Amino acid sequence: MQDYQHHWKDGTPLHLPLGKIVCIGRNYAEHARELNNPIPDEPLLFIKPATAAVYITRPLAIPRNQGEVHYESELAVLIGRPLTNASESEAKAAILGYGLALDLTLRDLQSQLKEKGHPWERAKSFDGACPLSPFVAAEKFSKDHFTFTLDIDQELRQRGDTRDMLMPILPLIAHISSQFSLMPGDVVLTGTPKGVGPLAEGQTLSLELDDVLFVETKVV
Ligand code: ZN
Repeated sequence: MQDYQHHWKDGTPLHLPLGKIVCIGRNYAEHARELNNPIPDEPLLFIKPATAAVYITRPLAIPRNQGEVHYESELAVLIGRPLTNASESEAKAAILGYGLALDLTLRDLQSQLKEKGHPWERAKSFDGACPLSPFVAAEKFSKDHFTFTLDIDQELRQRGDTRDMLMPILPLIAHISSQFSLMPGDVVLTGTPKGVGPLAEGQTLSLELDDVLFVETKVV
């Protein structure tokens, strides 16, 4: 756990508490397929606690001796208004900014938990399980879709295009808010494209969101 606080790209802190990080599993069909998972009929939601958040730009300390720690690069949406049973236009008006995140996953542990039909929590929610980038204000983006990439040691591993999402950003946020309220400062992770894999010490990860945001970090 560290002193995580939301920041804008220019380094200005955002005075909004991070309450929770809401994630969706299997929002890109090709990623569901690569892990031999069926495509769900409705969004598969789970939550990472605020204690999972760390600054992506600081060296990533990954858990040891708990099997493979997989990276999943994802578009992160910062919520700026309370949302309960929101419409898509209310969801849109509540988006303060966009950033990038890693949904770090103890994949071996997750597989064991899935086999037993148990919750994934321990595989997804450990301290440091959610490295987050600074955010870029929503109005800085002219398009309503995004592309992002993850390179490891200068080799392209993941390329996401939000047009490939099974549930796009606005319906997703509206759906989440029909299940539980989103509050200012909450973050929604929108799912990972194909190409996930294990992290290893010494790797350098470079993430880019369109031409707007670039962050780099190292695994220690
Ligand atoms: Zn994920």
